[in-house]
Amino acid sequence: MIVLILHMLLNEFKIFFTSSLIDHYPKSEIIAFYRRLTDYYFHWPPTFSVLNPQYQLRKDELLILSQALDELKNFRPIQYIINESNFFGRTFYVNEQVLIPRPETEELVKWVLIDYNDSKDYYNVLELGTGSGCIAISLAKEQSKFRIEALDVSESALQIAKKNALHHQAEIDFIQQDMTSVEVWSKAIDVIVSNPPYVEPNEKKEMLPNVLEYEPHLALFTPKLEPLYFYKKIISLAQTCLNPDGCLYMEINPKFKEDLVTYIKRGTFKDIEVRNDIFGKNRMLKAVKS
Ligand code: GLN
Repeated sequence: MIVLILHMLLNEFKIFFTSSLIDHYPKSEIIAFYRRLTDYYFHWPPTFSVLNPQYQLRKDELLILSQALDELKNFRPIQYIINESNFFGRTFYVNEQVLIPRPETEELVKWVLIDYNDSKDYYNVLELGTGSGCIAISLAKEQSKFRIEALDVSESALQIAKKNALHHQAEIDFIQQDMTSVEVWSKAIDVIVSNPPYVEPNEKKEMLPNVLEYEPHLALFTPKLEPLYFYKKIISLAQTCLNPDGCLYMEINPKFKEDLVTYIKRGTFKDIEVRNDIFGKNRMLKAVKS
């Protein structure tokens, strides 16, 4: 949209913002977008718009909000518009090179943290496919006993993960490597954690444009008709480098849970447990090495 209107009152803009998006998003989400944008760009508290309906938006303010509005109309996720996403109580830099951290993944992090809350000196942790680094960084910040190495095939994703680690002062060894080409690891590992690509390309038709058109396909999709492709590689690495009683934690695709459990049972793992996410879907799997 070219902004021809150079003067607008705040309450007028708010009405314009809502009506422009009402066919795209639920009302509650539109209000949340408006608050997030005005907080991010201008540090306005939520009450500002209510208390100042007659506020005359400056040209630059109008421009910045109109641009964001256009992007939202095109289903660009707000996290990419403002380059910011929240995960486990922290803010992470994100762009289209990395997945937007999901609340389901916070539950995976919580699971690891609850399990490793004992008196041992340290644990070697390996994350496969770190993306923005949100899992590795959250684990490092919440549990100082974790010595973490985190892998990603994408150099640009790793740049973002490093930027986030620096921002949060988390000590993590980031390694640029394709997880599917790793067969052995240089040291014995206590914990492997991964949220690998797990969407089978046939599922594209069920995906929303905000995901399909903006999030990195490298981080989302498995090869065609091979939904367990990444899991098989991760399980085989876990098989060789996990210590006895070491744990593997993975985010999973609920659609392929049965196949995955059947597959992992073929290896030397015990205590295989699947948990649901907040939406009631089978979303996480833990397996303990025998
Ligand atoms: N949870 C993501 C989605 O809903 C998929 C993440 C992944 O493939 N690891 O699309």
